[in-house]
Amino acid sequence: MSINLDTSKQNLLELKDEYESRINKIEDHIQNPQDDLNEHWEDQAISYRQNDMRKNLMSEARQSLIYVENALSRIENGTYGECEVCGEPIEEQRLEALPYATLCMEHAE
Ligand SMILES: [Zn+2]
Repeated sequence: MSINLDTSKQNLLELKDEYESRINKIEDHIQNPQDDLNEHWEDQAISYRQNDMRKNLMSEARQSLIYVENALSRIENGTYGECEVCGEPIEEQRLEALPYATLCMEHAE
């Protein structure tokens, strides 16, 4: 296997930081809606919609964070970079693009 685990781990830790700070930021916004620029009545609807959007973004970020954490534990137990379906090594360029991929290109379809 030609995957550099140290590099992958580094990438994953960076992603983890990024998702965690994204989640914190969105949480702040949801809890402090008065920070929003639009304070006018007529903008309430927009504000609600933005909150919905933020909640979607947050659940996406949380989901990604779970993937990243799973990938980190796969590095720990030595199964990182193996396709969950066929057990073959996941393509290097695929892991570079998506460090928490759990399926090879063939099985990701
Ligand atoms: Zn596969």
